[in-house]
Amino acid sequence: MNTSLLVINSGSSSVKFAVYDAALDAGLTRIANGMIEGIGAQPRLRVWGPDGAALEDRRIRVSANPVHGPEEAFEQLFDWLGQHANGRTLGAVGHRVVHGGEAFTRPVRVTPAILAQLEGLSALAPLHQPHNLSAIRAIDVVLPGLPQVACFDTEFHTTQPWVAQAFALPRHITQAGVKRYGFHGLSYEYIASALPPHLGAAANGRVVVAHLGNGASMCALRERKSVATTMGFTALDGLMMGSRCGSLDPGVVLHLMSGLGMTVQAVEKLLYEQSGLLGVSRVSGDMRTVQASDTPDAQQAVELYVYRIAQELGSLAASLGGLDALVFTAGIGENSAMIRQRVCQDAGWLGVVLDEDANEAPASGARCISQPGSRVAVWVMPTNEELMIARHTQAVLQGQVMHNWREG
Ligand code: AMP
Repeated sequence: MNTSLLVINSGSSSVKFAVYDAALDAGLTRIANGMIEGIGAQPRLRVWGPDGAALEDRRIRVSANPVHGPEEAFEQLFDWLGQHANGRTLGAVGHRVVHGGEAFTRPVRVTPAILAQLEGLSALAPLHQPHNLSAIRAIDVVLPGLPQVACFDTEFHTTQPWVAQAFALPRHITQAGVKRYGFHGLSYEYIASALPPHLGAAANGRVVVAHLGNGASMCALRERKSVATTMGFTALDGLMMGSRCGSLDPGVVLHLMSGLGMTVQAVEKLLYEQSGLLGVSRVSGDMRTVQASDTPDAQQAVELYVYRIAQELGSLAASLGGLDALVFTAGIGENSAMIRQRVCQDAGWLGVVLDEDANEAPASGARCISQPGSRVAVWVMPTNEELMIARHTQAVLQGQVMHNWREG
């Protein structure tokens, strides 16, 4: 009997999932993906097949008690999976877990003790970690004993040299784990695995990947390993994001609290939820909406967004000693020709020469958008964090240690 794997990426009000056929002889094939949205309000289950055709789109009933909301939502998802199993048994669930701290440098099968350790890291990723973990807890209630594997966004960056990870803080603070961890590791790991067939020898050279989604960061790769990244101790650092501020003079935080009398909770909300594109544009945290707006604030928000990417690109190129390739990925990186064009224009000094037609052409899949003579090859590549989680989950189940998985 064939086995399937369920991949879960659980957020504050929605759970995204993907289902893979994990046939031993045929690798991993995605058979469906979907989401439960509106958890805590009016939840909906939506599922699509591998060709994008809608398989399900319906309201699901959960009780008003928010404590049981996630469990009831998962119950309905498992019911749906059971009805569409086609003879497959569900072998495991793989989860995206944002923060693995210092202790977790490999994907792990979750036990109650591990779950407790991961809960201790929630303060470091307050927007994500609690939701990641509540999904694990809820599934353990619904299907006790089903193997669950945690895959960490921090793991891919453990190859960085110490200078890329350290803050210039007293040693005892660093020793207490206050250092740069980096995030979006599952996305970078997937892109690293997908580089060789497209970039050839340059795949192992000096590559910067720009993961520009709602959350955004960039990563410098050498030999397809992370050597530096823009996010740090938390997922707040680095680039300007949808609603997160990115890099900030730490003196600003001191001023907000002691000068303006803001509480820790108010500062957290300001920096995570009210800043970035949303705060600067005063229109939206969604790039499509900001791009479409002609208010001066929205235009400045785009200008600042691009400026910050260009600055960080220079910094990452410095840590690599040059640049051979630049890869755009995630919602904005894959879809906004305008942002790519403006970033590439600012990166002209590094030897980037964009092919404007290739950049504008409506296309999907991995594609080169630089001119043949460009010193730096520029690519657009769709990311696939779900597949990366499925690969890790399968490897953990099979007892293999899979660190920084690579293809080719
Ligand atoms: P992600 O978190 O990877 O799903 O990316 C979400 C971001 O991608 C949002 O800011 C969207 O507005 C943005 N996005 C998606 N499609 C487009 C597009 N065609 N043009 C500009 N931004 C887009």
